[in-house]
Amino acid sequence: MVTPAQTLADLLDSMTREGELYETLPDGKVRCFACAHRCVIFPGKRGICQVRFNRGGRLYVPWGYVGALQCDPIEKKPFYHVLPGGRAMTFGMLGCDFRCIFCQNWIISQTLIDDQAGVRPMPLSPDKLIELARQYDAQMVASSYNEPLITSEWAVEIFKRAKREGFVTAYISNGNATPEVLDYLHPHLDCYKVDLKTMQDKNYRRLGGVLANVLKTIEMVHERGFWVEVVTLVIPGFNDSEGELREAARFIKSVSPDIPWHVTAFHPDYKMTDRGGTPPETLIRAAEIGYEEGLHFVYAGNLPGLVGRFENTYCPGCDALLIERYGFYIRQNRLQDGTCPDCGRAIPGIWRR
Ligand code: SF4
Repeated sequence: MVTPAQTLADLLDSMTREGELYETLPDGKVRCFACAHRCVIFPGKRGICQVRFNRGGRLYVPWGYVGALQCDPIEKKPFYHVLPGGRAMTFGMLGCDFRCIFCQNWIISQTLIDDQAGVRPMPLSPDKLIELARQYDAQMVASSYNEPLITSEWAVEIFKRAKREGFVTAYISNGNATPEVLDYLHPHLDCYKVDLKTMQDKNYRRLGGVLANVLKTIEMVHERGFWVEVVTLVIPGFNDSEGELREAARFIKSVSPDIPWHVTAFHPDYKMTDRGGTPPETLIRAAEIGYEEGLHFVYAGNLPGLVGRFENTYCPGCDALLIERYGFYIRQNRLQDGTCPDCGRAIPGIWRR
């Protein structure tokens, strides 16, 4: 509990333990490699995410709490090729390594960064979280809402138990990863959603990232055999030009045409309130571009009922309707053991536990 004299930073600093994703350097410094910032942190200082810090030459990392907890449709993550119609017990932590001005979860993600942000952490054990997942009939346990990479040690502690109990596990991430963190996660993590926010490096840097790191993450996640889906929030005047959307689609196809690409609608939030939401026609055009560039699965999200066929999954072989959706809800699922019932083509994804 936060006492009158105790700040949120004090409280969060007390809910930590020594991390594993770091190395020690001379003079008490440490280098964290939980995300691609690879912060070198002096004694008494914090990393860019603010929630990992150097105490006495050791890196301390968040442990033993959640900042948010909710049971959502798996489609909301969004994963459209993982256990359709299932539920994901989803936990978030606090803090982020990015500073996106349009963040929809800024209250938790910008903790210790923006004075207006921050919620009281809720102490929770992995066993209790898994018990809740079972009670709510979830099939997936997911880390989302803020950036999961920065709390990977805690996520692994939860995922170890989740995997033992047969849950599918997932990261909903900005894709600012390192090979080290992906190798660390690999035995415990099944699904990885990456945000591809823009194909312009200068715009990524305004958000606190680097385009090349995110592109590399998509490649590394796919190489390692995680199930990956990519999301681009299409923001008017920021990343919605035909050229940029085409470039994003081409890049994803170069990794694999079977990676689903979600183009989702923006709505004004946080510090980006100077423009309206994404019109359906922009989203439909973005989805058409994805298919024109050779991707097999492109989805238009956040505008249920307004984007025609682009909420559904079709067979890339014979164009048969396979999964019909309205928003997060499954209207029909015609897949048979992960294959098209009409032509027998195998459809990539995780269709059963
Ligand atoms: S997780 Fe935090 S401390 Fe570690 S490299 Fe990323 S921003 Fe820096």
